[in-house]
Parts: sequence; C-alpha cells; structure tokens
Amino acid sequence: MYDCVIIGAGHNGLVCAHQLAKQGWKVLVLERRDLVGGACVTEELWPGFKVSTASYLVSLLLPEIEEEMQLARHGYRVLPRNPSSFTPGTDGRSLLLGPDLKQNQQQISQFSTRDAEQFPRYEAMLQKIAECLEPALMQTPPDLLPLPASWRSVGFRKKFRDTKTAYHLHQSLKHLGETIPEAIELLTGPALPILNRWFESDILKATLATDAIIGTFQPPSAPGTAYVLLHHVMGSAGGARGVWGYVEGGMGALGQAMAASAKAAGVEIRTGITVEEILISGQQISGVRLSTGETIATRSVASNADAHVTFEKLIPAGTLPETFEKAVSRIDYSSASMKINVAVSELPDFTCQPGSQEPQPQHRGTIHIGATCEEIERAYDDAKYGKPSQKPIIEMTIPSAVDTTLAPPGQHILSLFVQYAPYQLASGNWDEIKEDFADRCINRIAEFAPNVPASVLHRQVLSPLDLERIFSLTGGNIFQGAMPTHQLYNMRPVPGWSDYRTPIKGLYLCGSAAHPGGGVMGACGRNAAREMLRDGRP
Ligand SMILES: Cc1cc2nc3c(=O)[nH]c(=O)nc-3n(C[C@H](O)[C@H](O)[C@H](O)COP(=O)(O)OP(=O)(O)OC[C@H]3O[C@@H](n4cnc5c(N)ncnc54)[C@H](O)[C@@H]3O)c2cc1C
Repeated sequence: MYDCVIIGAGHNGLVCAHQLAKQGWKVLVLERRDLVGGACVTEELWPGFKVSTASYLVSLLLPEIEEEMQLARHGYRVLPRNPSSFTPGTDGRSLLLGPDLKQNQQQISQFSTRDAEQFPRYEAMLQKIAECLEPALMQTPPDLLPLPASWRSVGFRKKFRDTKTAYHLHQSLKHLGETIPEAIELLTGPALPILNRWFESDILKATLATDAIIGTFQPPSAPGTAYVLLHHVMGSAGGARGVWGYVEGGMGALGQAMAASAKAAGVEIRTGITVEEILISGQQISGVRLSTGETIATRSVASNADAHVTFEKLIPAGTLPETFEKAVSRIDYSSASMKINVAVSELPDFTCQPGSQEPQPQHRGTIHIGATCEEIERAYDDAKYGKPSQKPIIEMTIPSAVDTTLAPPGQHILSLFVQYAPYQLASGNWDEIKEDFADRCINRIAEFAPNVPASVLHRQVLSPLDLERIFSLTGGNIFQGAMPTHQLYNMRPVPGWSDYRTPIKGLYLCGSAAHPGGGVMGACGRNAAREMLRDGRP
C-alpha cells in the first residue's frame, strides 16, 4: 500500500514525488515511457547525437526547486544562451540580441534609432511586471468566482486561505503602480498592437512576436498572446533573470537529476508501465490498474498526465460530477506546434553573417526564421483553415554549438520548433504529409543559410500527432492544454478546481495541466505537493 502513486515521470511528477517523500510518504512513480522526464528528455537518436527530443531550453525552473532537490549535485548544469537571439533578415542585415543592453541598442539602431532608444524602457517595463507576477506562479490560485455549492462545496479553511492569498496578490499588484493598465493589457491582450506602439522596425517586432506565439495556435494579433511576452523575462535559470539556457547533456539531464534526487529521498520509480485506470471505491482512491493487469493499492494518486487523459481516459465515465465532466470536455487543446530534430555535418552558414567552421555568436542563440510580422500572421492564416503554413515560422537552436557533448566533433544538432502545423488538418493526415512539410521547413531555412539542405545527415520529424502519441499530449498541445486567459490561474484546469484537488478524494493533478501551466518550471508539482501535504498523509 503506497501513500501516493504518481502517474507520469514528467519533471513536475518528479518534483511532487520528491516533496512528498521528504515528508515521509511512501511514493511510487509510474511512467509509461522507458525513460523519465516527460517532455524533458535527451535521446540518442543516432549514434553520437544526443537530442533534446521535445523541450530544448530552460529558464523558468524555480530556483527553490534547484536547491531543494540539490540538482547540481545530481549533474544538472545550465549553459547560458548568449546571445539570446539571432534573426537573419532578407536584405543582408541581421539582428543579434543578448544580455548586454548597449550592444542590443547598437544592433537595433541598424534598423531604427528610435527603437534603440525605446528598447531599454520596454525591457524595464516587462521586467517590472514580470517581477510582480512571478510570486503568483508559486501560489495556489485563490477561488475568486462565486460558483454555487453544487459545483464544489468549499469549507471555511479554504475560504480563509483563498482570502489571504487574494489579499497578498492585491498587495503584490500594488507594486505595479501606474503600470497596471499596461500589465492588464500584457496579461490579456494581443502582442502585436503592444509591439507596434513601442517599435517601428519589423525585424525587431517579429523577433519579439515569435516569443509571443511559442506553443500557441494564435497569431501575434490575437488576444492572450501578449502574456507569453512576459515569459522571456521570467525565470532565472543559471542565476540571471530572463537568461534562457541550455542544459548540459540536453534537457534529459534535468529529468535524470530530478529522478536521482527523488530516488535519494526514497521515491520508487518504475518506467515502461502504463496506468490504465484509476481505481475508486466510494468516491475515494483505492489504487491503480496497470496495462499488465496488475493492480497497485494506494491511498492517493497525483496525475502528471493532462486533464483529458486523467479524467476522460483513466476514470470511468459517470464517476465524476456532470458539471465537472462537462467543464473538462470544454478544455481547449488546440495546437499547431511541431518539432524537427536534425543531425547535420556542418553549421548553418548564414548569407547575412557568413562563417560556419566554428560556432559563432549567430549559432549560439535562438535563430528566428520568419523575420516579418506579416509573415507570421500569414503563416497563421494558412493554419486557421487546417493547412500547414506555406512559409512556416521556425525557431532554430543549435545546442551542440554550446555543448560539445551532444554531437560528434564538427557535426551538429539543429532543433527546429515549427509553427504553424495544425493538429486538425482540413485534408490528408500527418503521417502522410509530415516529411513533405519537413522539406518545406528545411528549404525555408535554406533561404537564409543555403548550405543546410546538403548538410542533413538524419532527421526526426514530430508532427502534432506524434507529440500526442509519444508524449501523451492531447491534441499535441505542448502545455497540456492551451494557455489563453480563460485557461489560466484560477481557471486552470477548470474554474473552481485550481487548487490541484479534484472531485475524487485523494486524487490530485500535479502536472502542467494545472496552474501555472506549461514550461519547465516545476511549480505545478511543487504546489500540488504542498496542497497534498496540507490535506495530510492519507
Ligand atoms: C516539442 C516541445 C517543446 C517544448 N519546448 C520547451 C522549452 O524549450 N522550454 C520550456 O520551458 N518548455 C518547453 N516545452 C513545454 C514543457 O516541456 C512542458 O510544459 C513540461 O515539460 C511539462 O512537464 P510536466 O511534468 O507537467 O508533464 P510532461 O512532461 O508532459 O509529463 C507527463 C508524463 O506523464 C506520462 N504519462 C501520461 N499518461 C500516463 C499513463 N497513463 N501512465 C503512465 N505515465 C503516463 C507521460 O508519458 C509523461 O512522461 C516544450 C514542450 C514540447 C512538447
């Protein structure tokens, strides 16, 4: 009999497991894949090439988790991404941005002296707002809505806690001062009008706009995209605010370090085991049934799987209250993200910044392919009608340019995060068209670095359907559920249930389906464990 079975060894599941075990709980983690980490994995896809198959950069990981799990002792190390971005233009110029404000201004002034002057003010504004909002990531959202008791009956203690959290949130927001209207626009509005107000040069706006659409099925002109702009100044992986980094050895080194830390705290981890059903007797958790037919007795379950998998696949229909089931069935999983991992014999040689023998600054940051806002909007327009973009928007990183352990000497890994590749196609299916679409992506890169197509040694093309199949991500949504305003904070995963609990006693959500959502943060797992510990050892 376990105190808790955790379904899934994603990084959030591992964080949750560690927190519980540290308090003496007997915890078992069950992972359907043969490796731990969820979307945070490194796989040797071809001999000598160690690929971060899904997620590829880290920034948002809470420093508290790094410390509590002693991740450095277990081999976790961040290699800062410097410069942070490189955007090749079509007219021979390019834009290189990094942590040095003066250099950024010099770079931007190639396109607009006004934008160069504005940039530090823009960054300071984002930073100020991000700093005020960041504490909310680590809090359980308070219930702010007057939902009826038939939706959820809430006791006095929770009401008291929620009031306290809401008060603290209010106090924290006071620090925003006169930037409150801007903050509200950033939290709920579209990115493009904000960027248009601040800047005039298209290459700068497009570089920043791609930050706003990562993982969303929205163009920068759609409400909700501005929120994602904040992400690039949030987090402090590697010690500096907003500096995204590569994980040495690939993202899997983080998953591995977390698993080692959890094991050291007493957690048992079994991989290659799929949970088929969550067993419930009398509205209370009694165990889990595995695909092997084996059942495991446990007093509680924390699910690292998304809400659709947890509530609609692992629990028999009719078990949950109808209102809850209906709310879960309305969750938006729309997605248009794709990942292509490529092994190449040489570095991309950009026409606007030649040199490909040794890694140069343009190879070390995130390379934005698709340098105008109109191109991004048009790429979305195709996908809106169920067609993969004619001119895809590509975020390319070359982790091997920073970490020599990932590829054989002289050879490299290109990690392509591609949009828009709609999960729902108007015609055909992804298995039939994905290789053609990958060719389109490689040819798109060749417009800026003509040597790329001939340098390809191997490639792995992960369509949205593949992301669903391999990582168990419903609809291929990389965040375990889209992150528009109505699916954030106290409305994630559904209104009234944002405190990691569920209508079944002893069943919790501990993954990015819950607040604060997707990204390699660990906050969902840590917050969930705090609420479970508050309920007491079952
Ligand atoms: C292609 C891609 C690129 C991304 N890039 C970045 C990035 O660069 N930076 C960033 O911060 N974020 C990125 N993200 C998002 C980020 O990786 C995720 O939000 C985060 O890793 C989710 O972690 P998690 O622990 O909540 O869940 P997951 O990582 O989704 O883990 C859930 C685990 O549960 C397991 N599971 C599901 N059902 C069962 C079952 N029935 N039985 C047993 N096990 C089960 C799954 O196999 C999986 O291992 C990316 C995601 C993807 C897919």
